[in-house]
Amino acid sequence: MDFSDLNLNKPILKAVFEKNFETPTEIQKKTIPVVLAKKDLIATAQTGTGKTAAFILPILQILFRNQNNSEEKKNVRSLIISPTRELANQIHEESVAFAKYTGLKTAVVYGGTSVDAQEKVINEGVDILIATPGRLIDLCKQDIVDLSTVEILVLDEADLMLDMGFIDDIKKISRLCSEEKQTLLFSATMPNSVLRFAERILSDPERVEVEVEKKSSNKVKQYLYYVPKPSKVELCLYLLRNTIQGNILIFRRTRNGVDRLEQTLLKNGFKAEGLHGEKTQSARQNILDNFKFNKTNILIATDVASRGIDIDDLDAVLNFDLPNIPETYVHRIGRTGRAGKTGTSYSLCSPDEKEYVSAIQKVIKSAIPVVEDHPCSIKAKETSRQNKTNQSKSKKSKYKKSRKSEASKKKKKRWY
Ligand code: AMP
Repeated sequence: MDFSDLNLNKPILKAVFEKNFETPTEIQKKTIPVVLAKKDLIATAQTGTGKTAAFILPILQILFRNQNNSEEKKNVRSLIISPTRELANQIHEESVAFAKYTGLKTAVVYGGTSVDAQEKVINEGVDILIATPGRLIDLCKQDIVDLSTVEILVLDEADLMLDMGFIDDIKKISRLCSEEKQTLLFSATMPNSVLRFAERILSDPERVEVEVEKKSSNKVKQYLYYVPKPSKVELCLYLLRNTIQGNILIFRRTRNGVDRLEQTLLKNGFKAEGLHGEKTQSARQNILDNFKFNKTNILIATDVASRGIDIDDLDAVLNFDLPNIPETYVHRIGRTGRAGKTGTSYSLCSPDEKEYVSAIQKVIKSAIPVVEDHPCSIKAKETSRQNKTNQSKSKKSKYKKSRKSEASKKKKKRWY
């Protein structure tokens, strides 16, 4: 199948070829006909599969076909909701490139930047609006954006949006759009929470699934380290000093965890920076630039923050905390081993995370090789604890012995 078999108009195809896209990816082949048939869609696809073009191209086609060429102000006809600013920006960049010859206008709005500038852009007229949920709700409350004309709503990275607590915002946004709208939901993972949510807001959706990351995980050498929880920092430092080299992405579950590990690594002389949603947009951009231009070589991130990172050149991924959703593991390690390179992933597993390993191994359909010989293994720790106990016992017994002999000397003295 070729792009010209997908019923896209010439101005759109021209932009596609200008971007050097030759053949559609699997998600594009499966999704574009469904969207053009005006059906609701629920798609399991991760970043890197070409999913952005999978929804942008047919949206442009639908809007282009029924474009209002009058001088009237343009209304928002398609709305794309994305959980993070980085992802919103990436979607916007692709939309601008594909819309280049269509006359359709796109804009992006997200928090952390001035509302005035965004109001000005919207007032000039927008066909496709890309937004993060919080800022969009604010703009609706202030009557800056009217969503009643939205014909196609896209919810991108739905699993993340639910994880980030946007569920009520999204329901509200969906209600504000036209009742006859078409809704497309994309999610990297499809846990029950997302399926239940989809059932409530989609109508008779088609399901599409692609699993590129699972295949790409073959190119990643994976290692698993069992370690007592309090020794994870020590093992992380050991691996960074002795085993892992190059550009490294370390995953932590919480923002707090990212900050703490960043401090520890800096104190130990590593060039590391932490990335999470509480940092400002410009701080996040600086951190990414520092990593891209080799001022740092270690990036510590939460899953949420890492989703928007467009870095192909990672040598290793270190799972400091294991994820409780197996697909997230696949997604994380898929960040390395790209562009024909092999990558390596290192996962630290404390006793409370063992059940996550079983779930992950079921999904990747193989066992992750375990590295037993390391200074923080549970066995090594037990042995060292045992040694310490023995040492302190022997110290105590030496101390007792010396006290005894002193006492007996004193006694002897007295006797003399
Ligand atoms: P995405 O999954 O949308 O983040 O896309 C991942 C990358 O693949 C982006 O850099 C896209 O520009 C690129 N891409 C998407 N579709 C194609 C295609 N059919 N041919 C070549 N590159 C593509």
